[in-house]
Amino acid sequence: MSFGPVIDELIDSLRVLPGVGHKSAQRMAMHLLERNRVGAQRLAAALQTASVEVGHCERCRNLTEEALCRICRDVQRDPASLCIVESPSDVIAIEQARYFKGSYFVLGGSLSPLDGRGPEQIGIPAFIERMRGGEVTEVILATNPTVEGEATAHYIAELLSGKDILLTRLAHGIPLGGELGFVDGGTLSHAFSGRKPLENL
Ligand code: ZN
Repeated sequence: MSFGPVIDELIDSLRVLPGVGHKSAQRMAMHLLERNRVGAQRLAAALQTASVEVGHCERCRNLTEEALCRICRDVQRDPASLCIVESPSDVIAIEQARYFKGSYFVLGGSLSPLDGRGPEQIGIPAFIERMRGGEVTEVILATNPTVEGEATAHYIAELLSGKDILLTRLAHGIPLGGELGFVDGGTLSHAFSGRKPLENL
C-alpha cells in the first residue's frame, strides 16, 4: 500500500542501506515517524553533514573529515609497514584488534573487471605513488579472502615483484569467502601474527 509521496519517498530512501528490503524499510520508517521524531531529525542531520564533510585521506584513502586521517597523523605509527585493505570498515576491524601498529592503504574495493573495477578504480596509481616514497619496507596484503580479493592481492604482489619489499598475506583464521569487517579481534590478531611471506607467484 501507499501512504502518500512523502512517506513513500522515506521508505524508498531507507532502501539505500545494505541488506534493507522494502519490508524493513517500511518498519524503520514507521518506527521513526511513530516513535522517534527526534531521532529521525538527528539521523537526517547526521547524514546530511557526513555526506558533505567526510572525504578521503590524501595519504591512505581512509575516510576522514580532514586532509589526513587520524592514523596517518599519528607519529607513533610505523610508516614502513603498510597494510592494504579493501575498505574503511576493514581498517576499523584491524584497529579494534589492536595488533597492527603500521599504516594503511585503502583500495576502495577489489579488482573485478566484469563490474568495471580495474586498477584505476581501486586506487592503484595512488598506491604506486605511495610506494615511490621509499619508506615502505613491508606490505601486508589484507584484502578479503574472496576470489576478487585474492586476485587483487596477486595483482599487487606482481606490481611489487623484484622490489626489496617483504610481502606478506594474512593467513589462517580468516574464513574463506568472508570479509575482514566481520572477523573478531582475536582472530584478526592471530591472522596478523601468522602472516606468511608471499613467494613464487
Ligand atoms: Zn590516512
